[in-house]
Amino acid sequence: MDIFKGQNLLEFSERFKTNEDCKSYLSEIKWGNGFHCRKCLHRGSQKRKDFSRTCNLCSDTESATAGTLFHKVKFGLRKAFFICFEMSTSTKSLSATQMGVRYGVTEKTARLFMHKVREAMSSTENNPIDGQVDIDEFVLGGREKGKVGRSYDSRKKKTVCAVQLTDLGKVKRMYAMRIDNFSAQSLIKIFDKHIDKKAKVRTDEWKGYRPISKQYNITQVPSDRGGNFKALHTMIHQIKSWIRTTYSWVSNFNVDRYYNEFCYRINRSQTKSSIFNNIIARMVNSDKIYQQNIICN
Ligand SMILES: [Zn+2]
Repeated sequence: MDIFKGQNLLEFSERFKTNEDCKSYLSEIKWGNGFHCRKCLHRGSQKRKDFSRTCNLCSDTESATAGTLFHKVKFGLRKAFFICFEMSTSTKSLSATQMGVRYGVTEKTARLFMHKVREAMSSTENNPIDGQVDIDEFVLGGREKGKVGRSYDSRKKKTVCAVQLTDLGKVKRMYAMRIDNFSAQSLIKIFDKHIDKKAKVRTDEWKGYRPISKQYNITQVPSDRGGNFKALHTMIHQIKSWIRTTYSWVSNFNVDRYYNEFCYRINRSQTKSSIFNNIIARMVNSDKIYQQNIICN
């Protein structure tokens, strides 16, 4: 199939002129490698004009959007594609309010759909980061860590963040996740999800990392007020200021979704030309997300 490449908005709007153009694209992603009936697993089907397929054996008809995160998008697939394009190719995306204004949907509609896109942006956890990895924690919506940062104040969103560095000390990939507190039991979650056992991890001298060093290769060095973790701290600064300036406030429940979005773009900055196709394929292959699982914010 001819996948959409690049970040050019004019080329994008040329390619996707109608909802039908988008449906056609979805059906290619969904069935490009062959059809499987969802009811009886039969492989033969009739292609229909609206890009749905009807099984030759049981006559079940499946639309291009069924079972994807585009299912029941009421404001039109074209707008949904544009929002996906905006969120994946721009550096900082937009708030739901701005997105609503730009595409003529309500803020609530924009927010709900954007959460679905963020869900599709979440890590598959299939490619843990290895090599040189720096890890540190931070609090969102509160003071920098330091005097009170590692307190157990429950109002602050505590986060652990890991970056993989290139030989030149630049950020190659990153992950961030909310944790309940800065204990070893909480900190190890990012290791289990995202860090390869062979990675050479550096942390500051926080005692919470000591128990984890039994399972992972961790070197603890003085933080020197972040001076020893420059690239990591730059990313922490960026993620915090992005959330503060674009969204001003996010709920505990949804904060990981914003982290997913931020890290998804960072981790694909080398493959930006195919990033739109990547997010559409993820939207098609994600399990259905029910509205009640998404609390607005
Ligand atoms: Zn069938």
